[in-house]
Amino acid sequence: MAHPHLRVAIIGAGTAGPAAAVFLARAGHRVTLYERAPVNLPVGAGFLLQPTGMKVLQQLGLLDALLPSTAPIRRLRCLDGGSRALLNLDYEEVSPGLRGAGTHRALLLEVLLKAAVEAGVSVLWDHAIRALQRQPDGRPVLCDGRGVTHGPFDLVLLCDGAQSALRAQSGIPCRVDRYPWGALWFIGRRPEAFSVDTLWQRVGTTRELVGFLPTGTPEDLISFFWSIRLADVEAWRAGSLEAWKTGVLRHAPQAAPLLDQITRHDQLAVAAYHDVRMPCWHGDRVAVLGDAGHALSPQLGQGVNLALMDAAGLAAALDAEKTLEDALACFSKRRRRHLEFYQLTTRSMTPFFQSDSVMLGHLRDLTFPLAGKIPWVRRQMVMTMAGLKTGFFSQLPR
Ligand SMILES: Cc1cc2nc3c(=O)[nH]c(=O)nc-3n(C[C@H](O)[C@H](O)[C@H](O)COP(=O)(O)OP(=O)(O)OC[C@H]3O[C@@H](n4cnc5c(N)ncnc54)[C@H](O)[C@@H]3O)c2cc1C
Repeated sequence: MAHPHLRVAIIGAGTAGPAAAVFLARAGHRVTLYERAPVNLPVGAGFLLQPTGMKVLQQLGLLDALLPSTAPIRRLRCLDGGSRALLNLDYEEVSPGLRGAGTHRALLLEVLLKAAVEAGVSVLWDHAIRALQRQPDGRPVLCDGRGVTHGPFDLVLLCDGAQSALRAQSGIPCRVDRYPWGALWFIGRRPEAFSVDTLWQRVGTTRELVGFLPTGTPEDLISFFWSIRLADVEAWRAGSLEAWKTGVLRHAPQAAPLLDQITRHDQLAVAAYHDVRMPCWHGDRVAVLGDAGHALSPQLGQGVNLALMDAAGLAAALDAEKTLEDALACFSKRRRRHLEFYQLTTRSMTPFFQSDSVMLGHLRDLTFPLAGKIPWVRRQMVMTMAGLKTGFFSQLPR
């Protein structure tokens, strides 16, 4: 390792930021984590931690602190409008004991932040960073919303999410598209009809998708999501909650006890999805991690896991290379195949589940069950779900 004591600024305390902070502080770097939120708020939908994300947490020695509070997800069941199985995938088809974990962003953040602080990271809440600038020697400095300058730094990590305002100042080309479809989501107590170990989904046309992800203790919770075109959100807010619930129950009658917990529109949050493309994830003394560099729709449930793997990949590159420049190039290279596979697959799959195309819905209902009957294809589907693929014929070493 050529850089034992870099001065590192990390922007964003979502997933990528705190995970990178733990790795780098433990490696001896001086790390400051800037977050615009005033305090650590319990925000965000439930999510599915995949075997890939678990491996990173294990590497950090943090998995045992998280797992007991999560729901052990062993399978994905997705039915079509006629209640036929569209996808019926068990993690264990790839290897015994393999599984996911339904959990909450707030819980993961708590575990990561505790480790970050213990490793000596300075966490500055209520610090919205407005600008990434350069000193005459090229070293980056940051400007916050109050006009205060921070730095200079040897390395800045942009972990500021899909709608990053700083990405455009990094000098790395970028394309950002917003999906027309998003989701309403709600976290409530799990009705018994939903098995604690199954991510259950049902689709109708490509305009109808409902999903239920058990997300564990303390209260045996479940995350519910309902597909919605973003342009229709205002009309939904103005409409009758009961009429909307009737529509949901047509697809998932067993959700009645969960929907009973919803009495106001504002109990549901709206999630918008972005598709972010960058040719590489590093520039001069800058790296882009997590959604800021490669946001995708949550169709394959990979975003948090990719963010964790970015953090691990950057730490490994810094450890392996002699110069910072080489380490950053190595980071982009190490992450490329895995990220490109999931970006491409997610981009191609999303319209089959959320779009205005009637034809894609029919095609999906016809082909997915058949594909699942071919053993090789089925195995690739499970490995894709588990986050393990790096190409159509390749996967991560395990
Ligand atoms: C409905 C929904 C369901 C999902 N389900 C899953 C799932 O099942 N599995 C999965 O793996 N992923 C899932 N995802 C994706 C996942 O949430 C993201 O991929 C993940 O949160 C990305 O982490 P991040 O650290 O890159 O960014 P974020 O979590 O977005 O964090 C960015 C942080 O940066 C801060 N910030 C932004 N700008 C600034 C600034 N200028 N200065 C200081 N701070 C700033 C923000 O406040 C935020 O805290 C889902 C997403 C959605 C919307």
